[in-house]
Amino acid sequence: MSILLTNIGLLATQDPELGELTDAALVLANDRIAWVGPSAQAPAADEHADLEGRAVLPGFVDSHAHLVFAGDRAGEFAARMAGTRYAAGGIQTTVAATRAASDDVLRANLARLARELLVAGVTTFECKSGYGLDAQQEQRSLRLAGDFTPETTFLGAHVVPPEVAREDYLASVCGPMLAACAPYARWVDAFCEADAFSVDECRLVLQAGLTAGLGARLHANQLGPGPGVRLAVELGAASADHCTYLTSADVDDLAAGSTVATLLPLVEFSTRSPYPDARALLDAGAAVAIATDCNPGSCFTSSMPLCIALAVREMRLTTQEAVWAATAGGAHALRRTDVGHLGVGARADLVLLDGPSHAYLAYRPGVPLVAAVWRHGELSAGTVPPD
Ligand SMILES: [Zn+2]
Repeated sequence: MSILLTNIGLLATQDPELGELTDAALVLANDRIAWVGPSAQAPAADEHADLEGRAVLPGFVDSHAHLVFAGDRAGEFAARMAGTRYAAGGIQTTVAATRAASDDVLRANLARLARELLVAGVTTFECKSGYGLDAQQEQRSLRLAGDFTPETTFLGAHVVPPEVAREDYLASVCGPMLAACAPYARWVDAFCEADAFSVDECRLVLQAGLTAGLGARLHANQLGPGPGVRLAVELGAASADHCTYLTSADVDDLAAGSTVATLLPLVEFSTRSPYPDARALLDAGAAVAIATDCNPGSCFTSSMPLCIALAVREMRLTTQEAVWAATAGGAHALRRTDVGHLGVGARADLVLLDGPSHAYLAYRPGVPLVAAVWRHGELSAGTVPPD
């Protein structure tokens, strides 16, 4: 089964060889990109759609999200907007609600958020545990998340639950909890922050995860400067996430290492905090991804288009850099080569915009511009003009 898409006004492939093509066409065959080139030279296919001069780009790759939870924290948000400072302790509210929720409630919440992501153009997303905080509950979170994405992350080191002594909890995260969760997780993560876990504690957690065969990622330097980014680079973590407070040495480390700097500007937007210095990272040559960090506390939005708009308008990425960060950058942060670009052989995950160029994502912030989404070669959201 093959589908030919013609009359693409601007095709932003994010493939370094192909770049951006005008008046382009694509052939999807099964779940892969089979052909890319000028509309005039397009081969025949089983089906055809004329995309009317609109822009196409890869499906967004959201490399940072916390979607297994119950309840909401709208009251905490309202209080923060009224002047209360954000602190990591609010996580406990969600932990209590999540533990009390049935599998069905958590699964329904996950399904709703996964659909929300898809409709806004996200075709690959990562999903963390971290609201269960014991072996059984963390394992349950990862098992449920695994029904929606292969990119599951064990985040036992999110916060210490009040009923457990700190040393005992850390021993569990590195021992029995990890053993229960590793079969259901691809990644291990920790919240490295003065309010959460120290750099030495995070090193133990990530090393235990690496030994168990998981890849490492780290919440680092969100609420203040610290040694988190340095640890992520030292351990060869796939991603250091947040990077809001960086020294020039941190920037140099990220530029020299293999760790992607994943920026989460929707968090700064939602917590009314200063944005990271994305230009310093890009100008130094670091790989930069952007992601939603969708979670019920600090940032309850799943909108990659809004994330792109903020990256451009508030962090001074160019429109091209922001789209790269939301697609290929996210794929790098998940160490994936099959998504985040539209070269031949890539997974047929793509977005059709209601607009002639991807600049519209930042130019028209807040407007639902995603007209159609193909995931694994299938039209999964939106519509295309009838042939
Ligand atoms: Zn997070």
